[in-house]
Amino acid sequence: MSKYDVAVIGSGPGGYVAAIRCAQLGMKTAIIEKYNTLGGTCLNVGCIPSKALLDSSHHYEDAIKHFEDHGIEIPGEVKINFKKMIERKGAVVEQTTKGIEFLMNKNKIDVFTGVGAFKDATHIEITGDKNETIEAANTIIATGSKPATLPFIKIDKERIITSTEALSLKEIPKHMIVIGGGVIGLELGQVYRRLGAEVSVIEYMDRIIPTMDSAQSKELTKVMKKQGVKFYLSHKVSAVSKKKNEITVTATDKKDKEVTFTGDYCLVSVGRRAFTEGLKPENAGVKITERGLVETNEHLQTNVKNIYAIGDVVKGAMLAHKASEEGTLVAEILAGQKPHIDYNLIPGVVYTWPEVASVGKTEEQLKEAKVSYNSGQFPMRALGRSRASGDTDGFVKILSDKETDEVLGVHMVGARVADLIAEAVVAMEFRASAEDIARMSHAHPTYAEAVKEAALAATGDRALHV
Ligand SMILES: Cc1cc2nc3c(=O)[nH]c(=O)nc-3n(C[C@H](O)[C@H](O)[C@H](O)COP(=O)(O)OP(=O)(O)OC[C@H]3O[C@@H](n4cnc5c(N)ncnc54)[C@H](O)[C@@H]3O)c2cc1C
Repeated sequence: MSKYDVAVIGSGPGGYVAAIRCAQLGMKTAIIEKYNTLGGTCLNVGCIPSKALLDSSHHYEDAIKHFEDHGIEIPGEVKINFKKMIERKGAVVEQTTKGIEFLMNKNKIDVFTGVGAFKDATHIEITGDKNETIEAANTIIATGSKPATLPFIKIDKERIITSTEALSLKEIPKHMIVIGGGVIGLELGQVYRRLGAEVSVIEYMDRIIPTMDSAQSKELTKVMKKQGVKFYLSHKVSAVSKKKNEITVTATDKKDKEVTFTGDYCLVSVGRRAFTEGLKPENAGVKITERGLVETNEHLQTNVKNIYAIGDVVKGAMLAHKASEEGTLVAEILAGQKPHIDYNLIPGVVYTWPEVASVGKTEEQLKEAKVSYNSGQFPMRALGRSRASGDTDGFVKILSDKETDEVLGVHMVGARVADLIAEAVVAMEFRASAEDIARMSHAHPTYAEAVKEAALAATGDRALHV
C-alpha cells in the first residue's frame, strides 16, 4: 500500500494549491479526483468557462453596438457561431486543466483518479478505474460544492438548468428566466442577453448581489437594465414547471400577487451547497454541520486532528481564491509554520461588464456595527481613460474610519475593477489610510485614478476632477 505524508481529496483551486504547497514544503503528497480532469468546479464548470463566455459575448456586443462609435464599420451582418464559441470555451478549459496536470507532475504529486472515501482516519479507499487504498498521515478534504436548488424545483439539466449546463448549451435561449440575482446568475444572464436572449432575473431579496454594498447593487441594476436585462426583485418563486420546451415559473411579488413567467430555459442560480457525498467522513469520525459543511476550527482542522478541510466545503465565501489561500495555509501548518488569513481582505468580484469588486466592510455593515466612517466616491465618467474607451459607468467608493482614516472598505463598479481591487487589498493589508492612497501617484490616464480620487473625496472633499 502506498504511504503519503498528505492526501488531498479533491483537485479544485483549494485542493490542487494545497497539494503543490505541501510538495514544495517537502511532503510526499497524493491528490485524489473523481473526474478525469483536474481543476474542480473552478476550472471545469466555474470561473474559467464562465469568463471565456463573458469575454466572447463581450466581443460580440462590442462589434454590434460599440464599434460604430469608434468609427469601425463592418460591411454585412455580424453573426454568432455559437457552436464555435462553446468549443473555444472548451479549449480554454482543456488548456487550463492540462496545466494542472503539468503542475502535479512537476511537483511529483501522485494523482489518483476515482472517488476517495475514508476507511478510517489514516486510510482512504479510491474507487475508480482501479480500486486501491492509500495510507495518509494527514488528509485535506477539498471536495468543494455543487449547485443548490429549491426543494420544489426539479433540475432536468435540459431546460431547467444549473450553471453547469448553462455553460454548454446547444442553442441560444429565446427567453432565459434566471432564478437568483447573485454573481453566477448575473454573469450568465449577461452572456445570454448579449447573445440576443431575453433575460428575466427573479430575486427574492429587494436587491441583486445582496451581500455587496447597496450602492453597487443599485449601479449594476441600472446598467444591466440599460443593457436589456429585466429584474423582478422581492419576488418569491413558488413553482417551476415544464411543458415540452416551455418553462413556467410562478412567483409572488411584494404585494403577494401571483406572477408567472414563461420562457424556454430556466437557470436556477440560488447558491451552492457543500459536497461530501461518497466521502464517508463518518468512517474517520469527521463532523459535518447541519448545513452539510465540514466543521473546522480556526486552523481549518476538523475534530479529527490529522484531518483538515478547505474551500467551498467549509464555512466562508465560496470563492476560488479563498479556497487557494486556505490550501496554502493548511500546507504551511502541516509544515510547522504559523500562517494566517485575513478573511476581511478576501476580495469579491462579479465579472459582468461593468465589473463589480469589493473588499472589506460595506456601508451597511459599518452602520450596523455603529462604526463612524467617512465615505468618498468618484464616478468613472469623470476619468479621461473611461471616456477614451467609452466605459463610463460605475464608481469607486472608499470608506475610512472617521477617527483614524484607516481604509475599512473599498467598493467599485466599472471597467477592469476586478483587477483594480488588488490596489485596495494591498492598501488594507498594510492598514493604509485614505490619505496614504490619496498621496500615491497613479499613472494617467488609468481607471486606477478613480481610486486616488475616491481617497481624496474621503479625506475632506478634495477630489480634483469632479
Ligand atoms: C459558474 C461559476 C462561476 C464561478 N466563478 C468564480 C469566479 O469568477 N471567481 C471565484 O473566485 N469563484 C468562482 N466560482 C466559485 C469557485 O468555482 C469555487 O469557489 C471553487 O471552485 C471552490 O474550490 P474548491 O477547491 O473548494 O472546490 P471545487 O472546485 O468544487 O473542487 C472540488 C473537487 O473535488 C472533487 N471531489 C468531490 N468529492 C470527491 C471525492 N470523494 N473523491 C474525489 N474527488 C472528489 C470534485 O469532483 C471537484 O473536482 C464560480 C463557480 C461557478 C459555479
